[in-house]
Amino acid sequence: MEAALERTPDRPSGYTPRALGTGEALGSDELLAASLMSLPRPSILDAPITKLKGAGPKLSEAAAEMGISSLGDLLRHLPHSYRDRANPVGLGDLRLGEEATVEVEVAGAKLRPTRRRRLTILEADVFDPSGKVKAVWFNRAWLADRLQPGVRLLLHGKLEKRGFNVSEHEFLDGAGDSAGLHTTGIVPVHPASERIRPQKLREWVWQAVPMARHAVEPIPGRLRRELRMAGATDSIVASHFPIDEHQAEAARERLAFEELFLYQAALVSRRGQRVASNKGVELAPPGTEVAKWLDSLPFSLTGDQQRALKEIDDDLGQAQPMQRLLMGEVGSGKTVLALYAMLRAIEAGHQAALMAPTETLAEQHFRTLESLRASDATKTTLLTSATPPVERRELLESLASGQPQLVVGTHALIQETVEFSSLAVAVVDEQHRFGVRQRAALDAKGPGKRLPHVLHMTATPIPRTLSLTAYGDLDTTALRELPKGRQPIRTRVVDEEHRAAAYEFIRERLREGRQAYVVCPLVSESELTEARAAEAEAKRLARTELREFKVALLHGQMSSQQKARAMDAFSSGEADVLVATTVIEVGIDVANATVMLVEGAERFGLSQLHQLRGRVGRGSHESFCILFGDPESEAAKARLEAIAGEGDGFALAEVDLSIRGEGEILGTRQHGLPRFRAASLPEDTALLLEARRRVLELRARFGSLEAAEIGPLLDEARRRFGDERVEQVAA
Ligand code: ADP
Ligand code: MG
Repeated sequence: MEAALERTPDRPSGYTPRALGTGEALGSDELLAASLMSLPRPSILDAPITKLKGAGPKLSEAAAEMGISSLGDLLRHLPHSYRDRANPVGLGDLRLGEEATVEVEVAGAKLRPTRRRRLTILEADVFDPSGKVKAVWFNRAWLADRLQPGVRLLLHGKLEKRGFNVSEHEFLDGAGDSAGLHTTGIVPVHPASERIRPQKLREWVWQAVPMARHAVEPIPGRLRRELRMAGATDSIVASHFPIDEHQAEAARERLAFEELFLYQAALVSRRGQRVASNKGVELAPPGTEVAKWLDSLPFSLTGDQQRALKEIDDDLGQAQPMQRLLMGEVGSGKTVLALYAMLRAIEAGHQAALMAPTETLAEQHFRTLESLRASDATKTTLLTSATPPVERRELLESLASGQPQLVVGTHALIQETVEFSSLAVAVVDEQHRFGVRQRAALDAKGPGKRLPHVLHMTATPIPRTLSLTAYGDLDTTALRELPKGRQPIRTRVVDEEHRAAAYEFIRERLREGRQAYVVCPLVSESELTEARAAEAEAKRLARTELREFKVALLHGQMSSQQKARAMDAFSSGEADVLVATTVIEVGIDVANATVMLVEGAERFGLSQLHQLRGRVGRGSHESFCILFGDPESEAAKARLEAIAGEGDGFALAEVDLSIRGEGEILGTRQHGLPRFRAASLPEDTALLLEARRRVLELRARFGSLEAAEIGPLLDEARRRFGDERVEQVAA
């Protein structure tokens, strides 16, 4: 490791005036170690960055905002790019317009007044043995005093007509230990912020890099040898201060693998805990009741549905509780499978629950379930915050009494007062909308110490790679094949000029007896504003373009009763048009609705648009989606093009990933997932798959990831992707 530290700072140039950072600002290792003795897990890398020279309270705070508090954080803050600044050239060799680094001495400097108040220009006459030039800085007035005659500098910049335009400079005298850091060789550029410049980060990293020798090596030696991977320390050092771009990329790749490997280890072990400490309710094989119900369905299951059904059967037959994610876009037939799983529980004399994130959705599910099992006598109830107290009390009593039954509801299902005597199967719809605690609370509703089998459902298909990152702890089943008879939806992006024609088109469909949705733009500021806008639009349409028809309104600010009334009016056909906010994104199922008009389509994400569009094309009539939108960014334009050209949700998810990158799709805020520092998807898909394979292999070989032979893998995994974070996904 020492060798690596000495090797790395070699410059390809041979110009290495700077010595390797000595970490002197930190004091000796021993001193630092001593000062850390009181920490629970002493590591020099846990020391705060305030130990570094130039890391005062303000800047440290700015760094903390970027997730950099300790030396370890700093070392894991990898450059996003590098600038190749090779060797200083002589002033005599400078060519107009070319970037270069020069080593010069100051002859004199002065501030030049300008007419514009915000602009100051600093000029210095500088020279070297081969020539002289005027160096020019913009808005660096405070430098003037330091540019005394005789001062020596490294300057990076570009020769222009008026002089050498300086982008970065370093003083060569005095603080000489990092000379050349910013201006020569391969210079790393770290992600910075408004409050903290890349140059500052570079100086800190330079000081901290000797501490990289304390980095934990979480990848077992044998695996590292097999994969021919460098050690953690070498890779950290090389990623900050590489000899060349090759070395930089190799180092990044190794650190990306490490990151993905640790994250998978965290997920896999977390799942292991759920299974090891708890048992599920082993169900007997399916009996005649369920078979009869399947036969009674007015359609036959698609191939994908049959496969899914078999996987669910296998899961339910195990003592280990099911943790399966069922992915399939709207209308792919997930609810039938959910009902199947629940009926299996009931047939075996247990109870089942379906939890949805909103009342609207819960009610919708309730209705779908009722319609799917018309002849079945199983008791099915709805429990939301809108359930009247008397009904609620009756339901709670009957649940506690152990009567086999099916409950559909919202968060109301997991309140403490709700006691299931025998919950064997739980279905969670739109699972990403529930948090850790909520899912844990559902688990706790299982009988005794046992856990219910859980089927998670999501209508947001995500690419396989991401499902491994995000849900690496779940078994996944994808429904790609849509039920037969589904109509493809014709989607068109329409500009304002053709608005009148679009309404005429809608009127024609309505006259034919079909129905239409009008979706109002997403307003990020507040739900109230959004609701108001929807209200105004409904009124406008009812008075103007769609005055011959009945227009209903649905938005998130309405009471449950109002919402139910609006939905009833639309599904019964009493209303021809439903003007709505995105509350209709999920759950509404009206086969007669064949047109959807989306306002402000550029504001929606790709998967959201696709979900919305999934509201039409559910019956036997040809369906249409009209998008009004004014894409200002390239990304928005790409989204609209994609949605118009592609009908398959999984394919769109891949497109979405390539437009946005995984950071945004699985962004911390949205899904409680970590943002990776070194890895980036989908580019690192191969690494991700390899990492997952290796983690599973290790566990298989040693029985557990905690085995001594594996080393500090799990500790480091927990430290980096702490239980809290992992739980968000896995619990
Ligand atoms: P999802 O929950 O995935 O949005 P649903 O389960 O609600 O989809 O199914 C949408 C509609 O398609 C429902 O009316 C359902 O009865 C119907 N359906 C489900 N599976 C099939 C199938 N295999 N063939 C025909 N129709 C189906
Ligand atoms: Mg559904």
